[in-house]
Amino acid sequence: MMQEETIAAVSTPRGKGGVALLRISGQDAVRICGRVFRPKSGKKLEEQPVRTAVFGTIGMPEPDGGFTPVDEGLATVFCAPASFTGEDTVELCCHGGILVTETVLAAVLSAGARPAEAGEFTKRAFLNGKLGLSAAEALADLLEAQTREQLALAHHGMQGTTGEKCNAIYERLRHLLASVYVRIDYPDEDLAELSEKELEQGFSECARSLRELVATYRTGHAVAEGIRTVLCGKPNVGKSSLYNRLVGRDAAIVTEMEGTTRDVLCETATLGRVTLRLFDTAGLRATDDAVEKIGVLRAREAIEGAELILAVFDGSAMPTEEDAALIRELQAQTAPVIAVVNKSDLAERKGSFPYYQSIFEHTVSCSAKDGTGIGSLAALTEQMFLDGKLDFREDAILTNARQYAAAQRALEQTERAVRALHEGLPVDLCCRDAEEAMQSLSELDGRGVSEELVSEIFSHFCVGK
Ligand code: GDP
Repeated sequence: MMQEETIAAVSTPRGKGGVALLRISGQDAVRICGRVFRPKSGKKLEEQPVRTAVFGTIGMPEPDGGFTPVDEGLATVFCAPASFTGEDTVELCCHGGILVTETVLAAVLSAGARPAEAGEFTKRAFLNGKLGLSAAEALADLLEAQTREQLALAHHGMQGTTGEKCNAIYERLRHLLASVYVRIDYPDEDLAELSEKELEQGFSECARSLRELVATYRTGHAVAEGIRTVLCGKPNVGKSSLYNRLVGRDAAIVTEMEGTTRDVLCETATLGRVTLRLFDTAGLRATDDAVEKIGVLRAREAIEGAELILAVFDGSAMPTEEDAALIRELQAQTAPVIAVVNKSDLAERKGSFPYYQSIFEHTVSCSAKDGTGIGSLAALTEQMFLDGKLDFREDAILTNARQYAAAQRALEQTERAVRALHEGLPVDLCCRDAEEAMQSLSELDGRGVSEELVSEIFSHFCVGK
């Protein structure tokens, strides 16, 4: 499916560099580039071998048929469907100056292309069936990757493993449904049909595969999106110091004065193999200061929405009533809590560590000042959030909330189908649930999603991608 309009954009970042790359895609890509690019061989661009870089002059086509040279560079032609977008595509390489790149783009636009929207090349690749939606999302993650794990996960996701896994379950469901429909449509024929027991077994296996897939999101989320992590504790225990150590710079103000952090700060931090969306909060304490009061309220709200709570205590001092109050408050939370017993570098550190260890399931001794114990905190967090059995280079792993929601829906619908069969309800009733599960699966990898959602997803890409 070739889109009517030919689009063009600079695919390399704006700035001064050795070379810049422009991408032109659509049914007129070769003809348009033929007007701005003249191969040194004297032949036309259309006559050049495809997938081969050709050296030539890039210039501005003039209304009178003239040609004003702008730069020299390379052009590579890719013919549909053997290109990234699945359409005829030309990649033009010019020198990487800001003005030269802009002028080459202007030349391409004046020759008949229109500027590409954000993510439009990838959107076209998706619409032309060159990659599934989860693979396209992995490509976006690859561009954003900040850690080795995010890179490995994104690179693997681009291979389409999640789509393949969904397809396999989808096909299995389709096969099971077909056997039921054959029986309903041709009741008198002697067709090979599955017994209800076999059907139930088949749907149960699909549910098991979906359960495994859904479970991978815990790991995918911890690596790709980041665990929503809240640092809390009474004032002066070292929350901001720990925040700064984890984010790797002095983002929060550290003083000996209580009540310095008044608002909730948030940054992304890498802890071992996991990513944290880390929130530093105001110290939890009773206060008469109006601004600090709001800070404490916001801290409590952040704790409510947390996926991991790092409760910081001062290991160099004995626990106080304020610590005890925090412990009581934390016991009512559903999110897992790690007690981080800080200031281990101070001589008195042995003091309160055993006390916290006897209360919390997870306790780590550390020093935000010199970094001792951060490795243990990382190991513990990995153990809590990563499934060690998952191989980032082999397994289908869900990496975002959209994929997870679709997989979870498909799982619930398949489980409903199993239950319906188990309870002896009419077979065609369970088929409705299975059909819905197929719809959810096709949404997961993009076939069944609305145009609006597709546009929304691709709008988060950059222009030129
Ligand atoms: P917050 O109020 O809980 O955010 O605590 P801060 O991070 O502002 O730290 C309060 C005081 O404790 C500051 O003087 C820090 O330098 C000090 N502090 C924080 N962490 C450590 C640590 O691990 N060891 C020592 N010796 N001092 C620390």
